[in-house]
Amino acid sequence: MAVQTLPPAAAAGRPIALASAALRIDSSAIRDLLHVVDRPDVISLAGGLPAAETFPADALSEAFADILAADPGALQYSTTEGFLPLREWAAERHGVEVERVLITHGSQQGLDIVARALIEPGAAVVLADPGYVGAIQALRLAGARLTPVPSDVDGLDVDALAIRLRHGERPAIVYVVANFNNPTGATLSLERRAALAGLADRYGFVVVEDDPYGELRWNGPSRASIASFSDRVVTLGTVSKIVCPGLRIGFVVAPRPLAQTLVLVKQAVDLHTSTLSQRAVHRVLTAPGFMTAQLDRLRPLYSDRCNALVHALRTELGDRFEFAAPDGGMFVWGQFVDSIDTQALLPRALEEGMAYVPGRAFAVDGDHRRALRLSFATATPEQLYEGVRRLASALR
Ligand code: PMP
Repeated sequence: MAVQTLPPAAAAGRPIALASAALRIDSSAIRDLLHVVDRPDVISLAGGLPAAETFPADALSEAFADILAADPGALQYSTTEGFLPLREWAAERHGVEVERVLITHGSQQGLDIVARALIEPGAAVVLADPGYVGAIQALRLAGARLTPVPSDVDGLDVDALAIRLRHGERPAIVYVVANFNNPTGATLSLERRAALAGLADRYGFVVVEDDPYGELRWNGPSRASIASFSDRVVTLGTVSKIVCPGLRIGFVVAPRPLAQTLVLVKQAVDLHTSTLSQRAVHRVLTAPGFMTAQLDRLRPLYSDRCNALVHALRTELGDRFEFAAPDGGMFVWGQFVDSIDTQALLPRALEEGMAYVPGRAFAVDGDHRRALRLSFATATPEQLYEGVRRLASALR
């Protein structure tokens, strides 16, 4: 392969050769778009940002102050595994021994260290197409050969995966967002969860079950995790969508021997997650009644916003736009039945004063040209309605 370099201007006259790993990551189209849409006149349904008015700023500010006043050790280096009481909190919620839990810098870091631990360059990793952009980036960085499998309203098509496996594909990892998928909003059916776990046991791959949205369910009973069907599952958890994302606190639940390897990998990457942030988040999460009150606030808030978006889409776009309304999470994914190219439409939508993410941004292999993702988490019901009205104008 030809050596690629940064332009001379960026390197004071002498080109800087880049490693192939760095060349494998594309810029996230969503993060690029967020720069463009950061205009007060644009109603953005593009970013997947949680509702900031739900962040427990007062409780966190009190927690930081109390912890610092009581113990300067909260500013010290600490163990790679993470703050034990926070690990215990996660272990209890997942019904596992604490030794299996490692605190990470968000679930994104959880995926990075799992990928580093399990992927040989060129190894196959299966994921849904369309897929979560952060996962596509992290897996590519680790050298994975991404092998996309289609998905539908019941999530990843596990039968299609089974056919690939029968034909000899041997992935190291199958990555799946089973609850309220980003970008599709789909939830993996119980049958598919059990079947996927069975395939993991039979063919020896590891399932990475990334679950940032499972707690944000406002309708219907939650489904058993894939981890409840097999020991070959690594769970990625996070407080980003239930507390706040900016402190970057997540966790990994891994089978025993793998958990020890992940600790070593994380040690090499960043020594440990912020001591102070872990303690503050633990203090807030375990304050009496906090979790119940927080979820009781988040679920109706997102449910109302989702309903407003769904109503606006049906009223303003009618049969022209096909989508399934989710029972939780932050996203609606849909497609135009006519041959609208959502990438080409975006500049017109921005002119009208709204933004979405074109389906192509989530493509592993496919093009998802007629699809788009809308987030209902950040905007008010009125803004959601107005945003869709502007989308309808852009179409005219
Ligand atoms: N996985 C999925 C599916 C996500 O949507 C996100 C957030 N956009 C993440 C992981 C990253 O979450 P965290 O803030 O915990 O790194």
